[in-house]
Amino acid sequence: MKLKRREFLKLAGATGAGLALSQLGFNVQPIEAASNVTRIHDAEEYTSICNFCSCGCGMVCHVKKGKLINLEGDADHIINEGALCSKGATMYEVPNSDQRVKTPLYRAPGSNSWEEISWDEAVEKVAKKIKEVRDETWDDELHSTDALGFIGGAQNNNEECYLFTKMARALGVTFLEHQARV
Ligand code: SF4
Repeated sequence: MKLKRREFLKLAGATGAGLALSQLGFNVQPIEAASNVTRIHDAEEYTSICNFCSCGCGMVCHVKKGKLINLEGDADHIINEGALCSKGATMYEVPNSDQRVKTPLYRAPGSNSWEEISWDEAVEKVAKKIKEVRDETWDDELHSTDALGFIGGAQNNNEECYLFTKMARALGVTFLEHQARV
C-alpha cells in the first residue's frame, strides 16, 4: 500500500494513540469507532494555496454541501509540509465571515455612502476610468502613463499573470505589483 505523507501522519497518529491506550488496558474500540465519524469524514477534499503572501503554502480544504468546514496545512506540500502561519490559518474566515463583501461597492463622487452595483456595472466603470485616465496622462515621449497601476494576487496562476502583464504593458502601465509585496 502506498501512503501519501498526510495519510501516513493520520494513520501513525491513530494507530500510535490506539496502541498506547490498548497497552494500558483501555478498551479502544469506541475510540476507533468515533474516529471514523469525524466531521470531515464524508466531506469533499480539495487542495489550495494560501493567498496572503508569496510563500505559497499549500492547504487542504474540506467542503460539505458547498461550504468550507475545515482548512488546514497540507502535509504533502513541498513548501510548508503541513504548517500554516497565523495569517494562513485564519483563511478559513475568508469565505465564511459574515463581513465578507460579495458584490462590488461604489461610492459616487461627493457621496459618503457605498452602494452595491453589479459586476457588469463595475467592469464598465473601471474600463471607462482606465481609458479616461490613460488619455489624460499619456506621455508621448515615454509611451506610457504613470497614473495607472496594476496589482496581482498570490492566487493568480502563471497564465493569468502572463495575461495581466501583457494587458498592463499594452496599456502603457509601468507600475505592476504583487499583493504579497505591498
Ligand atoms: S500560511 Fe503564512 S507564510 Fe504561508 S503563504 Fe500564507 S501567509 Fe504566507
